[in-house]
Amino acid sequence: MTYQLNLLCGCTIDYERGRMLDASGVTFCPLHAAAPLMLEALKNEAIGLANMAAMVDPVETEDRMTSVYAAIAAAEKKVE
Ligand SMILES: [Zn+2]
Repeated sequence: MTYQLNLLCGCTIDYERGRMLDASGVTFCPLHAAAPLMLEALKNEAIGLANMAAMVDPVETEDRMTSVYAAIAAAEKKVE
């Protein structure tokens, strides 16, 4: 018998009792489906900003880099 767990965010997890969960049973909500794409976009943005800082205005790009790195760090934070 298959059970369904509905998370508050909108993700759902289908599972069978006694079987290990894996990603195939997960249906992601829009936010969590987009999260890996947003993380990749931020990493690309960080590279672009680093290149731009060398050529343009290091002070102006520093604020943008700080927020980008903060978002990347939050997304990559290990859950224990
Ligand atoms: Zn979700």
